[in-house]
Amino acid sequence: MKILVLNSGSSSLKYQLFDMEDESVMAKGLVEKIGLPGSVLNHKVSGGEKIVIDADIPSHAVAIEMVTTVLTDAEHGVIASMSEINAVGHRTIHGGAISSSCLITSEVIAEMERLVELAPLHNPPAILGIKACAEKMPNIPMAGVFDTAFHQSMPPVSYIYGLPYDYYEKYQLRRYGFHGTSHRYVAARAQQLLGNPPESKIITCHLGNGSSVCAVLNGLSYDTSMGFTPLEGLMMGTRSGDIDPAIVTFLMDKENLTPEEMNTILNKKSGLAGISGVSSDMRYIEEAALQGNERAKLALDVFARGVVRYIGAYAAEMNGVDALVFTAGIGENGTAMREAICANLSYLGFALDKEANAQRGVEICISTQSSKLKAFVIPTNEELMIARDTLELIE
Ligand code: ADP
Repeated sequence: MKILVLNSGSSSLKYQLFDMEDESVMAKGLVEKIGLPGSVLNHKVSGGEKIVIDADIPSHAVAIEMVTTVLTDAEHGVIASMSEINAVGHRTIHGGAISSSCLITSEVIAEMERLVELAPLHNPPAILGIKACAEKMPNIPMAGVFDTAFHQSMPPVSYIYGLPYDYYEKYQLRRYGFHGTSHRYVAARAQQLLGNPPESKIITCHLGNGSSVCAVLNGLSYDTSMGFTPLEGLMMGTRSGDIDPAIVTFLMDKENLTPEEMNTILNKKSGLAGISGVSSDMRYIEEAALQGNERAKLALDVFARGVVRYIGAYAAEMNGVDALVFTAGIGENGTAMREAICANLSYLGFALDKEANAQRGVEICISTQSSKLKAFVIPTNEELMIARDTLELIE
């Protein structure tokens, strides 16, 4: 069985072709700058050279056409024809009330279109990718794996905001949560590493450019830090995360900002980048902090504090915690950030194994043998999760 996984962004398309016999990646790549000057396809066959194809790529349909051409190319391809692909799995972001991955039907597309209002940046490119794919490969089944689906198990006490209840009924204004595919993947792995106990309390920290924390109770999402949109929760690369909502109207008034300008400040100019003034990228901020940049140090402290705050909150909500998981770019590689976060967890009976924590990018247990609370670094693999879900759906 061969599954093609597609992740469509507004101007990009990432792909991975899996051989599900052994879950290996046969080829993967990225089309960048779709519809922009300088569009390019980067393609890599596992164990082979990376190839770069510069071309005019005006739309997602053309991008998908190029992906099919390169995958079946006599020299750089890995399959003889697209008929070898059994299904396509799409990374889809906002599924509203959809609570699991599903085969794409016209009803699912209509629901995604209805939800564009809630996810204006994310759902339109995913819909474009699905439609382009349906046109190019009309006989291949497709599945949608939604970032919000895992969090549909949250109880109302976790997802209802303290706003007039009418708005929940009128606009489905509630916490949805994101990064669900990643939280689900690493939580399931942590559950295995704990020896599959019948009951478990796990806190997963997905720390990347976008960051969120999830309380996973007995394998199900119980609460998560992102909300109605991905803006809520932890401070991120360029997103503010939690702030006093009164700041929004205050700033709009003082600076004479339109809603769109305010949105840009909160989503693109805040967070690590906003505080440090250096970059949104953790590596550059750590470098600047080491050279004595005080705002960079402050940005790191605020980031760590946010994670510590959510761990504490979720341990309290679940009335305990058995394991912590760190994943995504910062979670997998940021050894100093992990140490800073873990420095505040002795009240949970946690002790850090410093030697283990010095490793980057590998699955490892970073708590000591005697630590009451276990902590794991688990590299996330959303693409594999999408491929697995897609396979399960077509079988
Ligand atoms: P995205 O949300 O775009 O998928 P990633 O999960 O790739 O992002 O995470 C990107 C973040 O990971 C960046 O802030 C980057 O600086 C950070 N990161 C990557 N490698 C390291 C490292 N060695 N040390 C600290 N941070 C790192």
